[in-house]
Amino acid sequence: MNATTELDARATEAYAVYLGHLYGCRPCQDEDECATGARLRETWKAARNRSLRAGRTPA
Ligand SMILES: [Zn+2]
Repeated sequence: MNATTELDARATEAYAVYLGHLYGCRPCQDEDECATGARLRETWKAARNRSLRAGRTPA
């Protein structure tokens, strides 16, 4: 598994965790994001950005 694939997998996993939280969290569903939702979203975005950067940068 190369670094990009691993970062991709982490971003996908972080997104799955975030979505899982949204399904069970009424404030987040009402667009009144809770602290946990905000943290999970930031974690996902950071992981996604790392993955996108890794994909663009030649190894
Ligand atoms: Zn929430």
